[in-house]
Amino acid sequence: MKGMIKIDRELCKGCAYCIEACPLGLISFEDEFNARGFFPACIKRADQCTGCAMCAAMCPEIAIEVFREDGNG
Ligand code: SF4
Ligand code: SF4
Repeated sequence: MKGMIKIDRELCKGCAYCIEACPLGLISFEDEFNARGFFPACIKRADQCTGCAMCAAMCPEIAIEVFREDGNG
């Protein structure tokens, strides 16, 4: 199964919970501040995302959306 996430960089407060939660270590921080003055999280190796949603489950700001495709289409 392949997945994809979308992080709302303006909602992100840079807590790193998602970075710690991703079993594949796919998430890290951007190099630039968002409007709230935080370095937001972003996915670095998006092609490896499985869509497991562990990152989104940990996000206190509900800033991560997860999309999945099952490969049957
Ligand atoms: S959905 Fe799973 S694999 Fe994809 S970035 Fe989030 S924790 Fe990592
Ligand atoms: S868990 Fe949410 S708020 Fe925290 S760094 Fe990740 S996206 Fe940002």
